[in-house]
Amino acid sequence: MPGTTKGQTLFDLSGGHPALDLVNSLDNRFRHDGPNEILVGYGEVLRFLGESELLDTRQIRLLGKGASGEAAEQTLRSVRELREAAAGVFYAAFEQRAPAPADLKTLERCFFAAGQHRELHWQTAAQGHQHVHANITWQWAAAESDPKLPLWILSQSVSDLLLSADLTRVRTCDVDTCRWLFLDTSKNHTRRWCNMKVCGNRMKARRFQARREG
Ligand SMILES: [Zn+2]
Repeated sequence: MPGTTKGQTLFDLSGGHPALDLVNSLDNRFRHDGPNEILVGYGEVLRFLGESELLDTRQIRLLGKGASGEAAEQTLRSVRELREAAAGVFYAAFEQRAPAPADLKTLERCFFAAGQHRELHWQTAAQGHQHVHANITWQWAAAESDPKLPLWILSQSVSDLLLSADLTRVRTCDVDTCRWLFLDTSKNHTRRWCNMKVCGNRMKARRFQARREG
């Protein structure tokens, strides 16, 4: 159901965190007759990072120009590998079972590679005359034109969520053909659907149907 509600965007970012939206980019993951791949090429990977605000337009243009066929293909494969390992671990965590050791190893490798290319940046931004907002973030200036940059940024994003307290807020959509991941930030932790407009309505329609038949 990607891109159904937001005009020109390709990705439905209902997950509330780029790491979960990445996992959801393999749509209908558990469907019997197979999933839908949304990350079909390197261009879609760049578009995902753009729509998720992990890269700006200038950076995307730079990477789009610099990516040779082989490097871009390799990065696409690695991003999908990262995504599938992340999916394995997020679904396992939600179901409170141990993830596959191979998935943990893949993530370890991705996080390590990301760690070799990131730099800590300190920034302050004056807000009005009174407050100065300061923060420290990972940045990737030296790797800006490297075709693998999307892989490292997404690895960092998966690492951020997986190793944070928010991991306990990761839920799956109640619709059994969907099961998209999302971060439940609702006050009472009662959110049940990836997207109220799509899956929420689907569940309401199904209950209505059941009442009529029952
Ligand atoms: Zn859903």
